[in-house]
Amino acid sequence: MDYYGSQINNLIAQLSALPGIGSKSAQRLAFHIINMPQEKVEALASSLTEARSHVRYCVECGTLTDSERCPICADAKRDHRTIMVVETSRDLAAYERTGRYEGVYHVLQGVINPQLGIGPADIRLKELMQRLQGDVEEVIIATGSSLEGETTAMYISKLIKPAGIRVTRIASGVPVGGDLEYIDEVTLLRALDGRVEL
Ligand code: ZN
Repeated sequence: MDYYGSQINNLIAQLSALPGIGSKSAQRLAFHIINMPQEKVEALASSLTEARSHVRYCVECGTLTDSERCPICADAKRDHRTIMVVETSRDLAAYERTGRYEGVYHVLQGVINPQLGIGPADIRLKELMQRLQGDVEEVIIATGSSLEGETTAMYISKLIKPAGIRVTRIASGVPVGGDLEYIDEVTLLRALDGRVEL
């Protein structure tokens, strides 16, 4: 298996460690990179290291950003009294692509998953409760429809309701276990418009 030489093998190994990249794709990417002009490869490499060292989590919603507050939290025109709770930054991006949601977000960075030992203290629930001390009218729970997503939604609802804040759940038009990221915008809007009181 050493017909490529260790440098190329190393590159292929690094690439195939990325999610969704199998060994064939990794080989294809590796050969593509090797044939790229030197300056393009350097630009690619530095964009990787720059992104890694500068990107951080928004102090308010917890999404990935490169400033203290993400552009959405920093935008005074957004409705800061409506908070949509999502699992990941990719889910936030999916709702932003619809262009119709005007509130702000709260990114949990995970869901409660007892099987994996992930409890309420392991996701950003404490931060959510802190935000609810402010002027908040509605919390829209948009975790996925997997068992873990539903469990998390129920847990959050029980936590928030005593505070007298309106709690809603996106409609279940979203396929079971479906990653929000892969769901088209029309379905997302339907799920948002059809949200129900919890
Ligand atoms: Zn933010």
